[in-house]
Amino acid sequence: METEKVKCLIIGSGPAGYTAAIYAARANLSPVLYEGLQPGGQLTTTTDVENFPGYPEGISGTQMMDDLRRQAERFGTDLRFGVATAADLSKSPYKITIDEEKVIEAQTIIIATGAAAKYLGLEDEKKYAGMGVSACATCDGFFYRKKVVAVVGGGDTACEEASYLAGLASKVYLIVRKPFLRASKIMQERVMSNEKIEVLFEHNAVGLYGDNGVEGVHLVKRMGEPDEERYDLAIDGFFLAIGHKPNSDIFKPYVDTDETGYILTEPGTPRTKVPGVFAAGDVADPHYRQAITAAATGCMAAIEAERYLLG
Ligand code: NDP
Repeated sequence: METEKVKCLIIGSGPAGYTAAIYAARANLSPVLYEGLQPGGQLTTTTDVENFPGYPEGISGTQMMDDLRRQAERFGTDLRFGVATAADLSKSPYKITIDEEKVIEAQTIIIATGAAAKYLGLEDEKKYAGMGVSACATCDGFFYRKKVVAVVGGGDTACEEASYLAGLASKVYLIVRKPFLRASKIMQERVMSNEKIEVLFEHNAVGLYGDNGVEGVHLVKRMGEPDEERYDLAIDGFFLAIGHKPNSDIFKPYVDTDETGYILTEPGTPRTKVPGVFAAGDVADPHYRQAITAAATGCMAAIEAERYLLG
């Protein structure tokens, strides 16, 4: 297999990866960055980013990632398409296989692979994938103009997706398993005051039906309780917004992770237990998961990589 040696390899192209690249490139580390399956990462599937300091009017997630990408490129980052498919971090230089066809031998690695949307685990989610099931309202909402959709989840993402979809769809059901929303107050208020959104508290989706794509969802109200109710609700689209799974699988044999798979780093730093290997952004952050915190840890990781290379 073809092998290439690099000083600093950055895996991932969200705010963490691109910020690491900006700093690493400006420190002359000649970083090589692989963008992964979804260049720009999760922010490219969000609507407006209204809480990133410096954008008083907000900015679209796609535009922000495009700007970050161009900034990384401007300082000489070698940006490449490709997915890291295997890792050997047993000794330096560390080996990362790209698309099962090329090996990068890196002195330092910044893991900024982010996290991916979780699904409920229903067979029907697979059956109707791309036929009414989606984990990204911004990507797919367009197809549901004037239709009826359901969003599963009670966090900020679910509320954001429900509000976004309410701007397109005729009706949005928010399926929440608890009797309350976990989302921040402002997002809860946005959802509760939107006439098009109906919140179904204490509901679980247990299956989907339809001959030609999703035509409805099987619901259970107060599942497991004596007054449990089962009924079907006609919908055209089923959106998941129940959290994320960190993309850390290939690194797990070498770095410590928590039970969900988030990479554990030395507190207050992006250092993993492997010297010269750093983790930044959502792959190592179960708590904050914000663009600004991801960018900050990307910056920290690049500074750490520079110091590590200086010995
Ligand atoms: P969260 O983990 O906050 O919420 C997940 C939601 O999905 C919860 O309501 C949870 O229910 C529900 N859920 C999980 N698994 C299941 C299941 N199997 N069946 C039914 N429901 C399920 O994830 P988010 O993606 O919403 O948010 C992640 C982080 O990102 C948070 O810190 C959030 O604040 C932040 N965020 C901020 C935004 C902003 O500021 N604009 C926008 C989006 C996200 P339960 O409550 O019962 O556990």
